[in-house]
Amino acid sequence: MHQVKNGDISVEEFTAKTIERIRQLDDSIHAFLHVNSDAIEQAKVIDKKIKSGEKVGDCFGMPISIKDNICIKDTKTTCASKMLQDFVAPYDATVISRLKQQDAIFVGKVNLDEFAMGLTTEFSAYGPTHNPWNVDYVPGGSSGGSAASVSAFECVASLGSDTGGSVRNPASFCGVVGFKPTYGLISRFGLISYANSIEQIGPITRTVKDTAFMLNIVSGHDSNDDTTVDNPQDYLSGIDAGIEGKKIGIIQEMVGDGIDPAVLSATKNAVTKLEGLGATCEDAHLEMVKYSVAAYYTITATEAGSNLARYDNLLYGYDLPVEGYEFNSYISKARTKFGPEVTRRMILGGFVPSAGHAGRYFLKALKVKQKLTREIEHLFKKYDYLIAPTVPILPFKFGEKIDDPIALFLVDINTVTANLTGKPAISVPFELSNGLPIGMQILANSNEDKSVLQAAHALESTVKLPEVPI
Ligand code: GLN
Repeated sequence: MHQVKNGDISVEEFTAKTIERIRQLDDSIHAFLHVNSDAIEQAKVIDKKIKSGEKVGDCFGMPISIKDNICIKDTKTTCASKMLQDFVAPYDATVISRLKQQDAIFVGKVNLDEFAMGLTTEFSAYGPTHNPWNVDYVPGGSSGGSAASVSAFECVASLGSDTGGSVRNPASFCGVVGFKPTYGLISRFGLISYANSIEQIGPITRTVKDTAFMLNIVSGHDSNDDTTVDNPQDYLSGIDAGIEGKKIGIIQEMVGDGIDPAVLSATKNAVTKLEGLGATCEDAHLEMVKYSVAAYYTITATEAGSNLARYDNLLYGYDLPVEGYEFNSYISKARTKFGPEVTRRMILGGFVPSAGHAGRYFLKALKVKQKLTREIEHLFKKYDYLIAPTVPILPFKFGEKIDDPIALFLVDINTVTANLTGKPAISVPFELSNGLPIGMQILANSNEDKSVLQAAHALESTVKLPEVPI
């Protein structure tokens, strides 16, 4: 990348090298669903601009991968689902048009669990992505393709989406940085909705500075997404501010039962490092965390049930001849194309908010969300940051949990709080255990995104991991 910035090699040469690396590695990683054959052409246009002395954008020459639930005009956007196998996006997501304005190069669309439901990429209809640290292990998810492509140097940055941890979880498993911003910081226009009341697009990069750089480009108010906030900031300036004098709470409910001993020991080491940087750390309690996973799955299934109702194979869908079906049976037949996890969520999403059950499930889940928010805001009166491991367990092997949905749901215990409460949270690669990465998570109050990046940068400066062995 530096070579491009210094003009030692052209954007075209660098892009060609990147594509070559993808071709070499991706048979074993399978991060990409689609490599963009246009990338070299895009690069040539930028080289021309440079030659003619025209001003180029801040992302010039940066090969970026995009999770395949974010729309790029005239490009296939499948959500890793057979249901959308032929869908070509008719417009750019706001994040994409902002990156295009800055001359970024899109090298391809990357894998995810179908419609972003899952945390291993095993639920992709096009086969799983492998963890670059050890290809026998899952890369996390649902933005597993994003994290693996950054970790394996198949691109310099990626955009994923985080509804309950899908940026932070794979970042943690693949040893890269993943950031879920305050709800409303980044436009969701052009992100195919899973649970829109809590999800955010977020960058996945190799360093915290790169995340701040990406945020400068993609964040900000968008008239196409009324939930966006107008709070322009320069996330790179002052990133070295450090954490001297800051107060940090260690969320006890996220380091308790079921935590892997290696993850617990990494957390203790992180506390020591943070104290070494001049912060004070103490135990903090978020009692509602014990209900957070149940509330999360109740709310997200309800929203997913409604969002995915539009896939009737009339407007969006695949080639299924109508002969032999009457109207309803055609739609029912067409919808059998969804995979098992998405189907499970839609069935749940029909049940929990239905008349007669809403009070017991959906409305109760909303109460948990509200109480958790009150509780965390109370903690932020006392603490600048809260920390916990991003995931309580280490990356695991393919097939280990796929048949046990409840066990899989529970892996989200440390990430869903930031989504349910709308708070910013980042995962920073911290240690390895038997060659597998462990990420530390830092949370702060709403709109303290800049401060979270400063703390993450401080923690990152204490860490030196070996190169990914691929
Ligand atoms: N594992 C969670 C789920 O399946 C999170 C997914 C996400 O953040 N998109 O819903």
